[in-house]
Amino acid sequence: MVMPLRIWREPLDADKTKVPRAEIRIIKERCRGCGFCIDFCPKDVLEVSEELNEKGAYPPKVVDETRCMLCNFCQTICPDVAIFTIKKELQES
Ligand code: SF4
Ligand code: SF4
Repeated sequence: MVMPLRIWREPLDADKTKVPRAEIRIIKERCRGCGFCIDFCPKDVLEVSEELNEKGAYPPKVVDETRCMLCNFCQTICPDVAIFTIKKELQES
């Protein structure tokens, strides 16, 4: 798996900003187990599951959905359209 360089940072007023929360949906049968969504999630929301799918891959699983900031990067980077997010209500960060 690719080990990304962590270069992002939080703004100084992050505690005063409301951020959208997401429900993360994973279509396990479609996943090829590339790990991109796990490696590039800026909030470490995902990790590899122990569950083998029909393709012989280990799909991601959600570790902590409350950490997700709905950046949609996982959805964008997934080559198999196997993960997507649904926006929930705004909450205090
Ligand atoms: S939407 Fe962003 S923060 Fe949420 S799981 Fe995907 S990559 Fe991580
Ligand atoms: S990016 Fe898509 S195909 Fe790759 S591990 Fe994540 S869900 Fe599976």
